[in-house]
Amino acid sequence: MSRIKFYNTMTKKVEEFVPNVEGKVSLYTCGPTVYHFAHIGNLRCYIMEDILDRTLRYAGYDVKRVMNITDVGHLTSDADTGDDKMVEGAKREHKTVMEIAKYYTDAFFSDCEKLNIRRPDVIEPATNCIPEFIHMIEVLLEKGYAYKAGENIYFDTSKLDKYYTLTNSSDDDLMVAVRDDVDEDVNKRNKADFVLWFTKSKFEDQALKWDSPWGVGYPGWHIECSCISMKHLGEKLDIHCGGIDNIFPHHTNEIAQSESFLGHKWCNYWFHVHHLNEKGGKMSKSKGEFLTVSLLESKGYDPIVYRMFCLQSHYRKPLEFSYDVMDNMKSAYEKLLKTAARIKENANDGEVDNGVFASFKDRFLDALGNDFNTSMALTVLYEALKADTNNATKYAIIKDFDTVLCLNLDKEVEKEGIDSELEAYILKKIEERKEAKKNKDFATADAIRDELAAKGIVLKDTREGTTYTIG
Ligand SMILES: [Zn+2]
Repeated sequence: MSRIKFYNTMTKKVEEFVPNVEGKVSLYTCGPTVYHFAHIGNLRCYIMEDILDRTLRYAGYDVKRVMNITDVGHLTSDADTGDDKMVEGAKREHKTVMEIAKYYTDAFFSDCEKLNIRRPDVIEPATNCIPEFIHMIEVLLEKGYAYKAGENIYFDTSKLDKYYTLTNSSDDDLMVAVRDDVDEDVNKRNKADFVLWFTKSKFEDQALKWDSPWGVGYPGWHIECSCISMKHLGEKLDIHCGGIDNIFPHHTNEIAQSESFLGHKWCNYWFHVHHLNEKGGKMSKSKGEFLTVSLLESKGYDPIVYRMFCLQSHYRKPLEFSYDVMDNMKSAYEKLLKTAARIKENANDGEVDNGVFASFKDRFLDALGNDFNTSMALTVLYEALKADTNNATKYAIIKDFDTVLCLNLDKEVEKEGIDSELEAYILKKIEERKEAKKNKDFATADAIRDELAAKGIVLKDTREGTTYTIG
C-alpha cells in the first residue's frame, strides 16, 4: 500500500496515490514561458512540485518527470487574444524570439539550481515538437472534435459530455475565459472553444511559423503539454502538476483534447499549488517590485531561505510574502545550519542507532505522505535535532531528511556564520585555563593554550585578562 496521500483536484479529495504501473510514476509539469525572469511566486510552485517529486523518490518510487518549455504560442491572455508573450519579450529586448527563449530558459534553470529544485528527467521545448502537435490536431479533426474557421483550427468544446472536469461547471468559469476577450473571436462556435493552430489571426506579429496541412502558422499553447506528455510518458499519465491558475483554462483544455484524442482517460491525479500573495492580494508583475531570486540575493537572502519559507506553509494555502517574514526565516535558517554543523562536527561519537533513525524516518515520511505536510516534516527534523540520542544518529537523520528538504544542511557553515559559536568555545577554554592556573596546574593551562594554538587561536595574557586573536 502506498504511503503517499494527497489532494487530487480532479476528485476534490485527499486520495491514496496508486500509480498505473506498480513502483513507477509518470509525472508531468507545466514548465515556464521563457519570456522573462521567473517571479518567486511561480517558483513557489516549482519548489512544491520538487517536494512532490522528491517525496515520491524518497518513498521508493521510480519517477520519470517531464517538463515543457513554452517558447511559442503562449498569448498574453489565457483566452485566444493578445500577443504571443515570446514575441512581446523579443520586441521589448530587441532580440530574436529564439535568443529570448535561450536566455530565459538558462535563467530559469539557474534559479532552480539555487533553490535546489531537481532538474526534470526530460525538458522539452515546444518548438521541438511541431510534428506531434500537427498529428494530434489532425486526429482531432478526423474524429470531429476540431473545426477550421477563419483559417484557424479550434477545439469544439460542445462535442464533449463534460468539458469542465477540474472545475465545477458554471457560467462563472466561462466568464473567466472570456473576461479579457477584448476583440472577441467571431470564428468560434462556442465561447469556450480554444485555438489548436493559428494561421491567420495575429499572423503578422509571429516570428516563428511552420508549414501545416492548414497553412503556415503556429500552435496554440494548450496543445503542447498534451503532446509533450504523451511523447515521453505514454497514453496514461499518473500525475500532472502546475499552479492553480493553470486549472482553468489550461489544464481543462489539456484534458479535453487529450482524452478526445486518446478515447480514454488520460491522467489520474492533478496536483496544484496555490498563489504567493502580498498584503492586499496576488502578487503580479505590474505592481511593486518584480520579485526574483536575484533580487532576494541582492538583499542578502540565501535563495534557500526562500525555499524554507515555502516549506513552512502548506502548498494548498495561499502564502503571504513579506521581508519581515523573510528576516525571521533567515535567522531561523542560520540557527538551523549552526546546529547541523555542530552535530556534524561531533558525529564520530558512536554508532548510528538504527531504531531511533527508523522511527524518525517513519514520522518524516508520514508527514510528507499526508498531503505533503512540509511544515510537519520540518517539525520532525527539529525534534530529531533535540532528541536524546548521539550525534552520529542525528547526523544520519539530517543527511537523510535533506534529500527531500534540500536545505543544504550538510554544507560547511561559512566562517562568519559560526563566529558566535567559536567565540563561546574560546571563552570557555580561557575560563578553564584561568581556573587551572589558579590551581597551579600549569600543565593543563599550557595544554589548553596549545590546543587553541593548533586551531590558529593565539592567546595573549594582559593585565586586563586574556585576549585572543584568530590567525
Ligand atoms: Zn501545461
